[in-house]
Amino acid sequence: AAGFVAVGYRTWHSSRKRTLLGQMRKRMLLDDSGLIEVRDDFCKQMVAGLNGETSSLLMIPSMVDIIPSGNERGRYLALDLGGTNFRCVYIKLGDGKGQIEDVKIEQCEIPEHHFTSPAADLFTFMAEKMVAFAKTLGFSRGHASERPVVGFCFSFPCQHISLNSGKLIRWTKKFNNPGAVGEDPVRMLEDAFDRIDFPVDVDCMVNDTVGVLAAARYLDSSVMIGMILGTGTNACYVEKIDNVRKLAQTPRRRRQTMIINIEWGAFTSKTLPRLEFDRDLDSSSANPGEMQLEKLTSGMYLGEVTRRILLQFAEQTGLFGGSVPELQTPGSLTTPDTSRIDHDSTFFGGPTGDILRSELGLSHWQTFWDRQLVRDIVRLVAQRSSQLIAAGIAALLRQMERDGTFGPMQRTVVAVDGGMFAHYRAFREELLSALERIMGAEAAHQIVLKHQQDGSSMGAVTMAGAAAGAPSQWRS
Ligand code: BGC
Ligand code: MG
Repeated sequence: AAGFVAVGYRTWHSSRKRTLLGQMRKRMLLDDSGLIEVRDDFCKQMVAGLNGETSSLLMIPSMVDIIPSGNERGRYLALDLGGTNFRCVYIKLGDGKGQIEDVKIEQCEIPEHHFTSPAADLFTFMAEKMVAFAKTLGFSRGHASERPVVGFCFSFPCQHISLNSGKLIRWTKKFNNPGAVGEDPVRMLEDAFDRIDFPVDVDCMVNDTVGVLAAARYLDSSVMIGMILGTGTNACYVEKIDNVRKLAQTPRRRRQTMIINIEWGAFTSKTLPRLEFDRDLDSSSANPGEMQLEKLTSGMYLGEVTRRILLQFAEQTGLFGGSVPELQTPGSLTTPDTSRIDHDSTFFGGPTGDILRSELGLSHWQTFWDRQLVRDIVRLVAQRSSQLIAAGIAALLRQMERDGTFGPMQRTVVAVDGGMFAHYRAFREELLSALERIMGAEAAHQIVLKHQQDGSSMGAVTMAGAAAGAPSQWRS
């Protein structure tokens, strides 16, 4: 009888878990009409943003109307400040068209305190790293005429005044350095180089999405979209200048098109499936109320969203024995962890058990079913993210179709970089299937998501070459 009671209790328990999972799935995932609603609101806000009307999408003209042509020659440097690391980049372009003779990329970890230190200190840190790097490559402190050509990939929303001047609109991701918002990041960087007595002129500042697009277009002119799926998320695309109504008065028009940085991480919409744990995550984040879409989709947040859902399961269904102080530490579960869980096909001795034990400190014994439930929750969080990103891509393609940059059923390459895309295979698969659902299989098969390895760094450094006045032109 005891055995019977125990089995009955177990079944009751697991049915509560399944019920809660079913409810969450309903609230977090979008059916076909839900997907279309997100896409349509996205489209509407893109147009409003281009017109200079109220919109959560910033639609920033990048002022990039040149792009590396393959005719650049020489040695260029770039600094790349993005999500979790800082990088120094060097490239030597040879005599053949687009011929890369040498590339060096040095990745530097950013000391924790520099995510919140005064901005000048963060910029000095970058300048010092860059000078040390440049010296190993034989660059020396020189007169204005012999200074190296330098690009700056700065992966934050900036209003551009020109290709190498602008204003930081806000910090995102982990960064929150006082003294930078409203200032010109290019000036701040040049000032930092001056402070350490190694004057440098920064020739261009690009968003990472723009870097990815530039790097990809350098090799293939059919690439129209650059996208980042990493710590943060964003995309940019090639737009007709005439559609950028808010730019109507710009005096100098070299070209008919311009790269627009959407800043889609900031997308806010009633159509987004945000739940109570999303709102809690938001209010305890570094930037409450901002970056709604980013918080539902990007690598900085998915692990944390998952932890919060697991906690809800523990409290409401007795998962992990119910009382789980271990689950209460923010940030204890990262997206690399959840991607390993997602890829775990064993559920027994494999990564899932390891991560629950070592990252979350859960010593409570877990059944096979519990681990499978954890995997299902992880997958649910990834699925929601992939659906929303797919809706964004679909909206973007629709906008490009509308303005004729791109015809229906035309093969389009989206160049993508970022750790989430590069390392999270199950997420990539979900993204493709979400694209099929929203666009139809036939149209979705025209979309190529191409991983552009080191795209932002390579784009920034070759853009610097183009900006420095080397012969350059659109390759369209
Ligand atoms: C920033 C974007 C950036 C993206 C990917 C977002 O948080 O606002 O400018 O492109 O992250 O790095
Ligand atoms: Mg200067």
